[in-house]
Amino acid sequence: MPALRGVSVSGGIAVGRAVVLRTRDGWVARLPISPERVEEECARLRGAAEAASRRLTGLAESGASAMGEELASILAAHALMAIDPAFIRPVEKRIRRERINAEWALRATAEELQERLSGAVDPVFSARGDDILQVARAIAMDLSASGEGFEKAAIEPGSILVADDLSPAQAARLDSSRFSGIALERGGVHSHTAIIARSFGLPAVVGVSGLLDSAMGSRPMVVDGDRGVVDPAPTKPQLRRALEGAARRREEEKARGNRAYRRHGATADGVPITLRANIELPGEARILARYGAEGIGLFRSEFLFLGATDGPPSVQAQEQVYAALAVECRPNALVVRTYDLGGEKGWGPRDHDTSAMGLRGVRHSLAHPDAFRDQLRALVRAGRSAGNVRILLPMVSSPEEVAAARAHLRAVAEEEEAPIPPLGAMIEVPSAAVLAAELARESDFFSIGTNDLAQYVLAAERSDPTVSAYYRPAAPAVLRVIKWIVDAARAAGRPLAVCGELAGDPLGACLLAGMGVRELSMSPVLIPKVDEMLARFSSEELAGLASDALSCETADEVHALGHGWAARTRR
Ligand code: PEP
Ligand code: MG
Repeated sequence: MPALRGVSVSGGIAVGRAVVLRTRDGWVARLPISPERVEEECARLRGAAEAASRRLTGLAESGASAMGEELASILAAHALMAIDPAFIRPVEKRIRRERINAEWALRATAEELQERLSGAVDPVFSARGDDILQVARAIAMDLSASGEGFEKAAIEPGSILVADDLSPAQAARLDSSRFSGIALERGGVHSHTAIIARSFGLPAVVGVSGLLDSAMGSRPMVVDGDRGVVDPAPTKPQLRRALEGAARRREEEKARGNRAYRRHGATADGVPITLRANIELPGEARILARYGAEGIGLFRSEFLFLGATDGPPSVQAQEQVYAALAVECRPNALVVRTYDLGGEKGWGPRDHDTSAMGLRGVRHSLAHPDAFRDQLRALVRAGRSAGNVRILLPMVSSPEEVAAARAHLRAVAEEEEAPIPPLGAMIEVPSAAVLAAELARESDFFSIGTNDLAQYVLAAERSDPTVSAYYRPAAPAVLRVIKWIVDAARAAGRPLAVCGELAGDPLGACLLAGMGVRELSMSPVLIPKVDEMLARFSSEELAGLASDALSCETADEVHALGHGWAARTRR
């Protein structure tokens, strides 16, 4: 089986057995079973199907009068579908053919049928696809208590996490210490999927199509995060080479020990550039010193909300997290972005919140003032004791939103009799960029989110692999918008940082520094490379690069310019 290509999001080589998860609509694991267990597994499936059918019939009969005839007849139809050989036989066939657990075979078959039916012109047929998924869910409940088909605690240490996709909520529920590498089917280089995969600090490759069909879990596979390649069935020599590579890396890390990276912290001619960390999970703050991060430039606080299983975290729970992070960062800043929920981060009613241009970020917060004020209260309290907390608003599209958020912040600070922490705006929506000068009057600081800014300027969704060729954060159009914002911030005397992925790309960081940006925030593991790159060049050389890039016409020209420049000027 050939190796599969994807996009590297975190370097290093990992070798291990795959834990294969299908994550759409809750997760389910793919577990290989021995040939002797195949018939037992088929019997387990039939037993669960019969139990589900009995349960659904009971529900239909007992509730017929209370729920109305129509609903009762749907349940009765589902009861029949659950034991319909036309549905159950293909699942059994899959268990025998692929020698896998019933939970996986059930989900995979149901999704396949649903996808086939969703294309039907006849609405009766396309609606039947959804019925099939619902029936599969009912059977899964009778197969295992969780319907997941595995016990998360039983994951063998050193496994490779293989999944179609991974939402922030699912990532927050996984114990990263059990895995040695990650491979995902979905995700482009700047998608949230990639950011999540990187936050695990493990070798990771995303956007690997055909991955789920190839990874078996019965023997070791290789994730090569340096080359962006996944080998689901390596030959013995390939496996040996990968194991040697992984061992070498471990040795290097051991040799480096817990020694902190010593930052240059400035360009070759001594212009200081502050490098802070982007973090998603509070536990990541432990590694700040190791990579030389000067505090946290972006704490994506929505992960606190997505990881919680019973409602939003309380004021006290949030305060504890923010206060601990603030102490970890002192004397440097802690920039907490208020929760950026909605969009592809998925929270709230699906039909309203899933669009990248929908009710997300500060829009979501202003529409849910109680949850927003709770978060502001926790931040104000943490800021009162630590003194280094700054608040950053995501998805700002006009000065009014910052003004409205500030009114909430002022009211909360008054109630708490505490100082008002600095309040900044993320610039990631084109309208905010255009109005940067006006926005500066309402904001204490700016942070440019190049991931979203690029998707909106270029009208190319960051998580959609079919438009990845259009999604180019270093495209001249995006660079010129960034320059516009940098100039507006300077004219207004407002501090400005960049916290999108462009800041963590060594050449991107050079372009940004050349445009006059003096603060960058990125995944902590990227800091040493960016720091070393910036230290090689003088501010004049960097300004020359930026000026040439700004006059390019295409993203390819910018990339060619950057690579040629780095090779020519390398010392
Ligand atoms: C961005 O959009 O650049 C950003 C930093 O925020 P996120 O990736 O969480 O949307
Ligand atoms: Mg963003």
